[in-house]
Amino acid sequence: MEHELLKYVIVILIAGFFSVFLCGYGCMKMKDAPGARYYILVTFMSAVFTFSYVFELTSSTLEQMKFWLGIEYLAMPFIPVFLLFMCFDYVGQKIKPWMYSLLYVIPIMTIFMHHTNDLHHLYYTSMEFNNDGPFPIIDLEGGPWFYIHSIFLFLCLMISIIILLMQLKKSVVRFRTQILLMVAGLVFPIIANYYYINGWSPYGIDLGPVSMSLSFLFHGIAIVSFQMFNVAPIARDIVFESIQEGVMVLNNQRIIVDYNHVMHTIIPILNTQTIGKPIEQVFDGNPRLLERISNGKACDHQMIIAGEKRYYHIRFSPVQNKNGLHIGKIISFVNITERMQIQEKLEHLASMDGLTKVLNRTFFIKQMEETFESLERDGGSMAVIMFDIDHFKNVNDTFGHEVGDYVLTHVAAIAKESIRATDIMGRYGGEEFIICLKNRSMQEAYALAETIRTRVSEKYAYINKKEIYVTSSFGIAHDSLGAGDNQEFIHSLMRQADQALYAAKRNGRNCVRSYTNALRYTM
Ligand code: GH3
Ligand code: MG
Ligand code: MG
Repeated sequence: MEHELLKYVIVILIAGFFSVFLCGYGCMKMKDAPGARYYILVTFMSAVFTFSYVFELTSSTLEQMKFWLGIEYLAMPFIPVFLLFMCFDYVGQKIKPWMYSLLYVIPIMTIFMHHTNDLHHLYYTSMEFNNDGPFPIIDLEGGPWFYIHSIFLFLCLMISIIILLMQLKKSVVRFRTQILLMVAGLVFPIIANYYYINGWSPYGIDLGPVSMSLSFLFHGIAIVSFQMFNVAPIARDIVFESIQEGVMVLNNQRIIVDYNHVMHTIIPILNTQTIGKPIEQVFDGNPRLLERISNGKACDHQMIIAGEKRYYHIRFSPVQNKNGLHIGKIISFVNITERMQIQEKLEHLASMDGLTKVLNRTFFIKQMEETFESLERDGGSMAVIMFDIDHFKNVNDTFGHEVGDYVLTHVAAIAKESIRATDIMGRYGGEEFIICLKNRSMQEAYALAETIRTRVSEKYAYINKKEIYVTSSFGIAHDSLGAGDNQEFIHSLMRQADQALYAAKRNGRNCVRSYTNALRYTM
């Protein structure tokens, strides 16, 4: 084949193969995405057009050339219309059915005019076989309809570009590269046609199909690497971005196809580079979250963001296409921190004794059980201090119930000040309190009880200009967890402490007794 011709044939073949690839890729990977269906049609028509043009260029007779030109003209006139429809669909712009029909009129007329040209010469005023150059070519002289078609083609491409550029302004940053690549791809055919119509193209070759290899190269990058059609319609982008919840979209292959800016604030590792990557790769460092997302079941998730504890309710909704086919899922993160904080506050309130602000009996036992469970794992010991205000009935009888209440709070406050943050303290009943110590010796427990006892006896409660002195009695039990111990261990310890307290009372009150001593006194 003539060297000059071979150059063009190769470029056009590249365009043809690109369009076949994009057509196949579109059919397999994205046929349900907005705009993609028309793009598949564009690539199919382009494939027919470019390959037929290769046959036309390599033909040696006028008849063969005219035949292939006829095939080209079955496909080519639809390309600009489908491109325009694709852009409308992509940006979510609805157009009226009659507009669709109207836009098909010119391509259909073009095909008709082209195929009946011999009768009226309105498309080409002349078609001549030219063998003067390095290779034979058909010389075409455009007639009135040829120019109508060319203007229509130009307008469709221009409107498509304008639609995409308008979207570019509205669009969030991560879609801009794709849109610009699409626009760049549409500019080449316009330039090529301009050259061709003005007769500036070399040997009269139609530069339209030649330019398509560049167009499809740009489109290919936009589609394959930026997943252009794999995202929700851009018109909905603004809505997507304004949602107060964090939203992430996954396709069926568990690949991240989109997320909104709220989601980025929740999971900062999400960025433009993570779009198109599988979640396993992106959430590699957060296995708990990955597991929850993989499970696909609504759940609550706690995380630390900028040093603050936050709670999210994670919800999953399926994404379906128009035909009801499952194509992915939307994962929303609803911030429930405030609700959880209120809940925690309520739980805290429910766990407290209203008067003395220490744990109530139920929650004290619950916490003691939790302490026991932690010791079950790691081993260790537990001590229980039980104490009771001496002759408290007298306080009530002498000063009244209200003063009695005040004295109760006063004693509870002294004990609370004396214990460590890790110690648990509760109101066991009326004027009886209980403290649980984890992994501390009997001596330490004894020392603590002594401290509280001394402080209570020394610090008077001041109410109604009166100084009220009270004393208290303490019973202590201490034990180490052995193999086979169960929750009964706790209750046994409490019983022992109670017995020791009873011994302290019998010993004259205002003193501390431990369980071993108690046994001596009670026996
Ligand atoms: P002992 O030294 O043996 O402990 O003598 P006591 O008088 O303290 O013991 P007793 O159990 O006979 O009396 C406890 C009293 O505590 C009876 C009850 O009226 C009073 N009490 C219990 N709960 C409250 C409370 O919430 N407020 C007030 N003001 N009194 C209470
Ligand atoms: Mg008492
Ligand atoms: Mg009592």
